[in-house]
Amino acid sequence: MHEAEVGVLIVDTDVVRVEQQLRQGRLECPSCGAVLAPWGHGRPREVRGDLGARLFLRPRRARCSGCGITHVLLAQVVLPRRMDAASVIGAGLEIAARGMGHRTIAAELGLAEGTVRGWVRRFPFRAEDVRRHFTVALVALADEPVVPEASASTLADAVSAVVAAHRAAGAKWAGVNTVSRWEFAGRVIAGSLLTCASSPS
Ligand SMILES: [Zn+2]
Repeated sequence: MHEAEVGVLIVDTDVVRVEQQLRQGRLECPSCGAVLAPWGHGRPREVRGDLGARLFLRPRRARCSGCGITHVLLAQVVLPRRMDAASVIGAGLEIAARGMGHRTIAAELGLAEGTVRGWVRRFPFRAEDVRRHFTVALVALADEPVVPEASASTLADAVSAVVAAHRAAGAKWAGVNTVSRWEFAGRVIAGSLLTCASSPS
């Protein structure tokens, strides 16, 4: 790659809508807020969905008219650098929040233990940021926010905050109900559920 800096922007799953947004200058650079312009495509990728479904994506790329950074527009069904769909990873994190280990989760989801171990080991490093982010979102979204009580597990608290924020967003905007809570979560936190800084590959 020639570009020194490549970012990622999590976008709608509907490619036609994203293309319209891009061409009408309605997508903003996550780094500086300037308008993004079409800039080719990223490399194709395959993602594992629910029940072994396979999804093929060819993410659009966009270049910022302000800072010049190139961004990969990643559909919210996926998270950066992960082969599994956001909803699948989220389902695993929800089971982990109930105190289950990676072997149990892997068996329940029908995935390799090593794959699940990767998420379950990584998420605790992000959990406090995720909890804080979605607690703030919940308070902003709900008319009478009920912040989940803290438990003994930061991981479980982070999952509870995501669930509560998604519910509040669904009450406010009906369209959010059609989006799985972990796709919602990935988009709201700019893809950084498992990784700190978003990276497109
Ligand atoms: Zn920019």
